Amino acid sequence: MACSMMDTGRAWREIDLEALSHNARSLRAALSPGCRLMAVVKADAYGHGALPVALRLGREGVDAFAVACPEEGIALRRGGVRGEILVLGCTPPEQAPLLARWALTQAVADGAHGRALSARGVPLAVHLALDTGMHRLGIPAEDRAAIGEMYRLPNLRVTGVFSHLCVSDSLEEAHAAYTKAQLARFARAVAWMDGAGYPPGQTHIQASYGIWNLPPQPWSMARAGIALYGVTSAGEATRNRLDLRPVLSLRARVTSVRTLAPGEGAGYGLAFRAQRETRLAAVSMGYADGLPRCLAGQGGQVLLHGVRCPMAGRVCMDQLLADVTAVPQTAPGDVVTLIGADSGQTIRAEEVARRCGTITNELLSRLGPRLPCVPLPEARYPAKPSVSAL
Ligand SMILES: *Cc1c(COP(=O)(O)O)cnc(C)c1O
Repeated sequence: MACSMMDTGRAWREIDLEALSHNARSLRAALSPGCRLMAVVKADAYGHGALPVALRLGREGVDAFAVACPEEGIALRRGGVRGEILVLGCTPPEQAPLLARWALTQAVADGAHGRALSARGVPLAVHLALDTGMHRLGIPAEDRAAIGEMYRLPNLRVTGVFSHLCVSDSLEEAHAAYTKAQLARFARAVAWMDGAGYPPGQTHIQASYGIWNLPPQPWSMARAGIALYGVTSAGEATRNRLDLRPVLSLRARVTSVRTLAPGEGAGYGLAFRAQRETRLAAVSMGYADGLPRCLAGQGGQVLLHGVRCPMAGRVCMDQLLADVTAVPQTAPGDVVTLIGADSGQTIRAEEVARRCGTITNELLSRLGPRLPCVPLPEARYPAKPSVSAL
């Protein structure tokens, strides 16, 4: 992928694929020997670009991926991604032929889902979801009749069994105990399957926080999403310290600069009011790009020439304003950093998410398709050409 002016003229996501590789290696080192890393690349790899992310991880030897729906899996296959692709969401049985045609493994959400998939008459590889306490999807871990039934259904080939932890991000005692109970329910179910002639195949229960907060587990895979992208969900403390680097930076351009006299207002609702003579820059990114509209009102900042500048007024659909009085050299074409590093200063995704009252998972996965994904370090963004050069 070459970086062109088309990519970095307005607003873009910069993807550090070296950091991604580094994170995959760090995560693997934290797993028990032989435990495979399943890269969770649903929601366009949490806004990082699913295809380039999966292809890069494939080159790192990652051979298992997880997505939310068949369409996401098919896009990876069309792009040349090999290995196992597990669809975590409850795929409508009508889509069974798609799963088969594109060699996607389907999670079985419960007994009824398994029976409905089977009834479609298409041979499918499936992983059984077990409910160990999250109560979202899964066959109740103790429902042995239902588990056994899935093995006897025509067309379904059970190649794995998994569960999901719902409070593993918390180090609170009660939550740690709940996670332990979930792990125990999963272990009992797998042991029973082993003994009852229902080979469990691949086994997995840890997601990112299960890797951060648990000792290595005895299962064959771990599913990592947010940790792979080098950030925590909310800046929480974790039991294990992993060396992870943020993969995504979010950047835009200054498009116009003007001076406001004291007392002048700016933007929709005149929500900004100049207290003193103010240099105001228009920046080419808005809420339609996935940047939360509430950010400006919650102390949101941007980096310009390594200086933190406050957002001014309201975030618009395609633009925002920043008070750049502290950076007098600001000029149209300058690169503005909304997430990431610039000249030694950094705005982390966790900071932006906290200001917006959400987690990085939501913030990043909502970054819009209007923002091209520009890989680093293969490319550095060029300066914006002046209009006369076009
Ligand atoms: C999204 C998801 C993951 C990844 O979770 P992270 O916390 O981002 O690592 C793992 N497993 C399931 C079932 C998921 O839905």
